[in-house]
Amino acid sequence: MNTRVDVLLGAQWGDEGKGKVVDVVAPHYQVVARFQGGPNAGHTLIFEGRKHVLHTIPSGIFHPGTVNLVGNGVVIDPVIFMKEVDALRAGGTDITGRLLIGRRAHLILPTHRALDAASESEKGKEKIGSTLKGIGPTYMDKTGRNGFRVGDLELADRSERYQTLVRKHERLLSLYPQVPDWRAAEKEWLDAVERLREIPFVDSEHYLDEALRDGRSILAEGAQGTLLDIDFGTYPFVTSSNTICAGACTGLGIAPTRIGKVIGIFKAYCTRVGSGPFPTELTDEMGERIRQAGREFGSTTGRPRRCGWLDLPALRYAVMVNGITELAMMKADVLSGLDNVRVCTHYRINGQESTQLPYDLGPAAQPVYRELPGWGDLSGATIPPALERYIALIEEAVGVPVRIVSTGPDRAETILRNVTAPARA
Ligand code: GDP
Repeated sequence: MNTRVDVLLGAQWGDEGKGKVVDVVAPHYQVVARFQGGPNAGHTLIFEGRKHVLHTIPSGIFHPGTVNLVGNGVVIDPVIFMKEVDALRAGGTDITGRLLIGRRAHLILPTHRALDAASESEKGKEKIGSTLKGIGPTYMDKTGRNGFRVGDLELADRSERYQTLVRKHERLLSLYPQVPDWRAAEKEWLDAVERLREIPFVDSEHYLDEALRDGRSILAEGAQGTLLDIDFGTYPFVTSSNTICAGACTGLGIAPTRIGKVIGIFKAYCTRVGSGPFPTELTDEMGERIRQAGREFGSTTGRPRRCGWLDLPALRYAVMVNGITELAMMKADVLSGLDNVRVCTHYRINGQESTQLPYDLGPAAQPVYRELPGWGDLSGATIPPALERYIALIEEAVGVPVRIVSTGPDRAETILRNVTAPARA
């Protein structure tokens, strides 16, 4: 009986392929719970020849025996949420009794989106690359203690609460020269909020506590990635929430002592969307080759992702701050066919070598690479020796085993490795 909550999260800058791994491991869990982020996430799942993109709803929704909970750490845009619900129903997925929302989750208002757009356009060249979905302003209202929560929809004075927040936003918006027409989106939002009440609201901390006491297995699903964490990411080019394992505790109401396995998802290379430091970035033909082979374009925004070699100091950091117990390596197939592949084993910072991620990951951190022989086709059920050597180098550097190797987007293209933890070099 599993009395702990396992956590699955991104170990890089997001888009690692978390959706696919949750989908692969979801049959082992009775509850899948999202703990942070908003509809800027885009988890892509491909099975039986069909592609599904989820923004807010946990990736366990396609497994009939699984209950999916959107936790209090998530910010919800009711319009996007209900579109996802409609798309799932239209595709034949029965969500009845299988989708729950935490009452303490905050709602994204049309004025949050307007504030996001107004603030980002004022930043000009200093843009942080916001997805403009209103997520940052919603988290700001949460910490500012002004937010509008899912549970507020059950209160008699919900309209007054909404209007009070909108008036505050109007005052803020009047400070900006360029303000989008948010009123046009308000009716759709109010309709979606009414429909949101079709989905049961729960107190996630009590729900999950009872589930654990009943011996039900729980997986907490993260969005974005460790290096986008508001505290430990490459600030200020980060997201507005805690993407690390601790975020599962605050975003669901789970005590730290109840965390079990921590599964870190990483790609065989690195990508990053938007601005911010990226030591191993490839701005040459190789970067373009990886982008095309890996289809590295955002699933929510369509933006081309920046691509580069695997960064081991960054991965070690992710293993450290999250307490990752096992890794899943995604998209090894994207590097297939290269004569050689490179891995950044450490940085050179002001003439000193270091395997630690520094406070400032800017241009002073020069990546130092090791070159290894590449591998060929990965369509078989076994891992070729060159890829095994690549994996061994990673395991030695970070000290945890790579248990899942993904060799293609489909559920079926997954190889499980039965290995134990190596000692960190
Ligand atoms: P997430 O946000 O972490 O779930 O990642 P995304 O869904 O944004 O990006 C992952 C993309 O890679 C999706 O289009 C997946 O279908 C695809 N993908 C996942 N695993 C693999 C893999 O092993 N190989 C290839 N070629 N594509 C993969």
